[in-house]
Amino acid sequence: MISIPKGTKDILPKEVYKWQALEELIREICGNYGFSEIRTPIFEHSELFERGIGDGSDIVQKEMYSFEIAGRRLSLKPEGTAGVVRSFIENKLYADPLPAKYYYITPCFRYERMQKGRQRQFYQFGVEIFGSEDMLADAEVIAIGYDLLTRLGLKGFKLHINSIGCPKCREVYRKKLMDYLRPHYDQLSEAGKLRFETNPMRIFDSKDPAEKAIVKDAPRMTEYLCEECTISFSDLQAKLAALEIPFELDRDIVRGLDYYTKTAFEFISKDLGAQSTVCGGGRYDHLIEQLGGPDIPGVGFGLGMERLLLIAEAQGVNFPDKHSVDVFIAAIGEEAESEALKLGKRLRKAGFSVTTDCIRRGLKAQLRHADRIDASYSVLIGQDEIDKGVFTLRDMSNSTQIEVAPEDLELYLKR
Ligand code: ATP
Ligand code: MG
Repeated sequence: MISIPKGTKDILPKEVYKWQALEELIREICGNYGFSEIRTPIFEHSELFERGIGDGSDIVQKEMYSFEIAGRRLSLKPEGTAGVVRSFIENKLYADPLPAKYYYITPCFRYERMQKGRQRQFYQFGVEIFGSEDMLADAEVIAIGYDLLTRLGLKGFKLHINSIGCPKCREVYRKKLMDYLRPHYDQLSEAGKLRFETNPMRIFDSKDPAEKAIVKDAPRMTEYLCEECTISFSDLQAKLAALEIPFELDRDIVRGLDYYTKTAFEFISKDLGAQSTVCGGGRYDHLIEQLGGPDIPGVGFGLGMERLLLIAEAQGVNFPDKHSVDVFIAAIGEEAESEALKLGKRLRKAGFSVTTDCIRRGLKAQLRHADRIDASYSVLIGQDEIDKGVFTLRDMSNSTQIEVAPEDLELYLKR
């Protein structure tokens, strides 16, 4: 017996309806906002993620599923944005009317330590707006996340926002932060030391208690924002207020990826335990250019769909289960079987969900099966029915049976 790889999960038929309902809602909301779906490959050249996410990030340092084939270094996508940006540049989508608004639903792969809310293959829903510098775009992507959580009926989640500045003000801040951290350098973890060298601000992302204590009194980016970033940040807050989306300022949000500028935000839920972030995003004004494209700003988010479903489950959200069988056709005998084939074809064409036994069991066994799969009706066709030129229709909810003329059958079926 070969078991499932650690950190992956089957989505079984009995729970897949939740995923389908979630995906349907995502597509509906993205449609409401005029976003188009984009699908990019599961794997890309490793270099795309190294440059896009950043060499110093945890993801690139230790979480990527990378492999070499025919001398090419490839990686399974650990997140959605880099591939979308690559495609935007490669297909010259920037020649289309801007801003471009995209969404995706994709599996992602990260080799991580497993915990609740952390898998090695997980699904992300993400949105991106390319080509707007304005906080209207930031507010719009946040509104999509907020709409999704709200329309699912989730309660008690919080939106945390921060500004992590632009390269100009971040440089000034970076020096101040390094000055603060330098006396503590020896107490930093190996990862912390690396962050100190590459992107010291990411130390705020640390879950190490010693590092948390060290950064408690460290200077924060928000104290060093330049005028432009200060204006943007208050502009974003005004737009969220206009949309009546409640938020909290959280100066500790820095986001795990290196390419963010200005806006950083997270949707957080207490129902998730330690991995409390269900959705994280922000602005990345230099990513497209950094990956070889034109100087076009971007903003977006990535949302963990397993985590979203964990919250929904904890809160008892009901998803509509559309998978039910309308009609089970039970046929006995060769002639009846061919009638059953024709009837199945006819009812499916009319939009009913129809199933049959397929293994030639006896009538009793077939009806028991119809009951166990929760079919609404059974249609019985045996030699009797063939001789009389009728179908026997059985209402499975109350086990009552009537004979109906074959051409009238649809009139008796409630969907
Ligand atoms: P965390 O610190 O919680 O690991 P992150 O900063 O690494 O999050 P992002 O790269 O921003 O996460 O990904 C966006 C979202 O994808 C997360 O908020 C989370 O919901 C989901 N996510 C990230 N990693 C995993 C994982 N290993 N398993 C399941 N979901 C994940
Ligand atoms: Mg992570």
